[in-house]
Amino acid sequence: MAFPSVSLGPPIAKPLSRLEVEIEANRCLNCYDAPCIRACPTSIDVPRFIGRIATGDLRGSAHTIMEANPVGASCARVCPTSQLCEGACVYNADANPIRIGDLQRYATDWAIRTGATLFSAGEPTGKRVAVVGSGPAGLAAARDLAILGHAVTIFERDDAPGGLDTYGIVPFRLPAEIAIWEAEQVRALGVEFRTGVAVGETLSADAVLADYDAVVLAVGMGNVPRLGIEGEDAAGVWDALDFIRIAKMGGDVGTLGDAVAIIGGGNTAIDAATCSRRLAVPSVTMYYRRGTERMTAYDFEIEFAQVEGVEFRTFTLPKRIVVENGRVAGLEIVSTAPDNSARPLPGTERVIAAQTVILAIGQSRHVALLDAFDVTHDVNGIAIVDEAMRTNNPRVYAAGDCMFKPGGTDAMVVEAAQRGKTAAQSIDLFLRAEVR
Ligand SMILES: Cc1cc2nc3c(=O)[nH]c(=O)nc-3n(C[C@H](O)[C@H](O)[C@H](O)COP(=O)(O)OP(=O)(O)OC[C@H]3O[C@@H](n4cnc5c(N)ncnc54)[C@H](O)[C@@H]3O)c2cc1C
Ligand code: SF4
Repeated sequence: MAFPSVSLGPPIAKPLSRLEVEIEANRCLNCYDAPCIRACPTSIDVPRFIGRIATGDLRGSAHTIMEANPVGASCARVCPTSQLCEGACVYNADANPIRIGDLQRYATDWAIRTGATLFSAGEPTGKRVAVVGSGPAGLAAARDLAILGHAVTIFERDDAPGGLDTYGIVPFRLPAEIAIWEAEQVRALGVEFRTGVAVGETLSADAVLADYDAVVLAVGMGNVPRLGIEGEDAAGVWDALDFIRIAKMGGDVGTLGDAVAIIGGGNTAIDAATCSRRLAVPSVTMYYRRGTERMTAYDFEIEFAQVEGVEFRTFTLPKRIVVENGRVAGLEIVSTAPDNSARPLPGTERVIAAQTVILAIGQSRHVALLDAFDVTHDVNGIAIVDEAMRTNNPRVYAAGDCMFKPGGTDAMVVEAAQRGKTAAQSIDLFLRAEVR
């Protein structure tokens, strides 16, 4: 499972010790109608997997987790558990919920370490399904479709599968090897991976539609959009996703200088900021146009960034990137109104020192690809689906970030996985109805 990713320093969370596992696993009350199951978007049977750990059945525990969540090893590390399963644990009354994510990690680490094969493919149905994209949504859809007996091909633009789990989430939270293991579990079911294929570019949508009975679009989102301010083309201006990806893969990000300015207030901005600190940049500051309470980054992410030495400047808008000799030499910022309207306050402009500017203001959408599949989308390029992940095109489904509507929080791996599972169930019903 060799993969060229680096750790960039100590992991955020250490695995539980054997003693901690025993204590935590034996605290579970096996609640009736357990709230943790309802709070998990993939409905993992939490009391069951914990009970299996308590009795030493690690294989059974890993099976329970991965059956409900095909990317359950990644989720054990990246889920905002305090807002999900752990937030619903009845022990919250004592402010001491069971460490569900850490127990999930213990069981899935066992499966990774032992190379256990947890699932097998179903009886062949003779139907062929194409999955475009191999992030959490694509892997979840492909895994369940294969278990249901359909022949699945994943088309992936990148060289390796896993999407943002492999390339986007910082390695000290999620090493790429975990996502690669999850993809290998899917491959072991006979799913064909065609990496290096960008559907809509190197392979047309029509060719995919001609060869397959159904298609799942699980292409996530695209690059960070431009700010539209002066100086954006200078050396030293980064798209946060490119920056994290190169850093995670051990590539060369070049000279970052003494001061890095991050523009944005979500989890991607936090990841770019903490990555910069781990790359030994002395001064890393996040600039956000509203107050902290309006940031989409989770509170625990903000706290982590503070511990890592990241500074925050809220109510601040970037106005211009100062460029000297083709390189970033500073950032002109302007204060915004304290009413959270993000309205700039004239006369408050000033230039701060920065040699690198990293943009983390959201992600664009794959509009051209949706158009190529005749899939209806809203003005922002978000694929429109019903509750079964069906698009307007009867043979095309969409799951994951490409149909995620930004709202209160950032997109999540576990939600993407659940939508991939839903798409697989819907396609199965559709294809079996066609057979009858
Ligand atoms: C920096 C960062 C940190 C994050 N941290 C967390 C976290 O801590 N916890 C959490 O729960 N979530 C986190 N998220 C969100 C999470 O990563 C996403 O919600 C999740 O990965 C979405 O899964 P997906 O499968 O829809 O898309 P992606 O993971 O984006 O996968 C889409 C895949 O489709 C491929 N693709 C795109 N276009 C084509 C094409 N035309 N042809 C073929 N393949 C194509 C891409 O290469 C990619 O592999 C983070 C996101 C970012 C950006
Ligand atoms: S997948 Fe995430 S939300 Fe669900 S039980 Fe595991 S850690 Fe909790």
